[in-house]
Amino acid sequence: MEQSSVSIAFYDTRNYDRDAFTRENRQFLYNIDFFDFHLDEKTALTAKGFDVVCAFVNDTLSAKVIYILKDCGVKLIALRCAGYNNVDLAAAKEAGIPVVRVPAYSPHSVAEHAASLLLSLTRRIPQAYMRTRTGNFSLNGLTGRDLHGLTAGILGTGKIGKIFAEILSGFGMNIEVYDVYPDTAWAEAHKFKYVRLDELFKDADVLSLHCPLTDNTKHIINEQSLALMKRDAVIINTGRGALIDTKALVYSLKKQTIGGAALDVYEEESRYFFDDWSVDVIRDDTLARLLTFPNVIITGHQAFLTSNALQAIAQTTLGNVKQFIESDLVQNGVQ
Ligand code: NAD
Repeated sequence: MEQSSVSIAFYDTRNYDRDAFTRENRQFLYNIDFFDFHLDEKTALTAKGFDVVCAFVNDTLSAKVIYILKDCGVKLIALRCAGYNNVDLAAAKEAGIPVVRVPAYSPHSVAEHAASLLLSLTRRIPQAYMRTRTGNFSLNGLTGRDLHGLTAGILGTGKIGKIFAEILSGFGMNIEVYDVYPDTAWAEAHKFKYVRLDELFKDADVLSLHCPLTDNTKHIINEQSLALMKRDAVIINTGRGALIDTKALVYSLKKQTIGGAALDVYEEESRYFFDDWSVDVIRDDTLARLLTFPNVIITGHQAFLTSNALQAIAQTTLGNVKQFIESDLVQNGVQ
C-alpha cells in the first residue's frame, strides 16, 4: 500500500472531528470519507473498499462486525479514543485485523472536565446560571460546600486519575486512591494514601471514577458500594457509563442516600449522546429520570473535547495508520 492510496472510513464523525482530521491529513494525504452514522452490524458493509476503519467510543466492533469488515477488505481498525471496551479484541486477532488506539491524547482535558463538573455540582452553577439569565439574583437553595478539607476518593490512578488527584490536592482536599496496580512512589511523593476499595467508598466525600471498563469494573458502583457511601458524597464519572449501575444510582438519589452525581458518560449513551434530541422524545426512562434531579449534572461525553486533545487524537490516529502501512510494507518485502 502506498500512503497516498490508503483509504480510511471514519464513523460517527461530527464537524469538530472532520476539521481536526482534515487539518492533520495535510501531512499524510490519505483518502478519507467521513460518515456521521455509527459502525455496527447494519452499517459495516459501508466499509467495502476501505483499507482502514476509524471508529469512536460508541461504534460497535463485535465479532460479527469484525468479520464483515474482514470480508470488506479492511486491514486495520484505528480507534480514535483511549478505551477499547467496545471492541472484541479476540475476534479481531482471529480475523487478523490489528487494532490501534490513542492511549493518551490529553489526560488533562478529561481531568479538568472532571474538576469543572465537581465544582459546578457542589456550587450549583447550572441553577445559578439559569437564574441570573432571567434576572433572578436570589441565592436561596444555592448553598454550596467547601472542597477544602474534604476527602476525595480516586478510583483508578492511571494518567487521568493521577492528574485529577493532583488538581483536587490543590483545593486542600485529602486524597485517597485505589488501583489494582498501585503506584506507591507517586502516592508517597504527593502524600496521597492507597486504601482498600471498601475504605475508598466509605471515606470519600467526592468519589471519581478513572478506571477502564472491564468485566471486573462493570457496575463497580452498585447497590452495595452505594450503601457504603456517605449520604452527602458526590460521584463524578468521566470514565465509562457502565462503571455505574445507573438504576441503583437513581434509587439512591431518590432515597437521598447519596449527595449527587456529575456524569460525562452513561451506560446506554450510544443512542443519545453526540446528537441533538432537544425536539424529540427521550424514551430511555433512566436517562430521563436522571435529567430531572437538581443534584445531577450530565454532559454528553464531552470531557475529551478540547482543541489540544482533538489535534493530538488526529495526529496519533493518522500516525498509527502510517506506522501500520510501513510495517506492512516491510512484512511484504517492499522495503
Ligand atoms: P490509564 O490506562 O492510564 O489508567 C487506568 C487505570 O485504571 C490504571 O492505573 C489501571 O491499573 C487502573 N485499573 C484497571 N482496572 C482496575 C480496577 N479493577 N480497579 C481499579 N483500578 C483499575 O487510563 P486513563 O488514560 O487514565 O483513562 C481512564 C479511563 O478514562 C479510560 O479507560 C476511558 O474509559 C476513560 N476516558 C474517558 C474520556 C471521556 O471523554 N469521558 C476520555 C478519555 C478516557
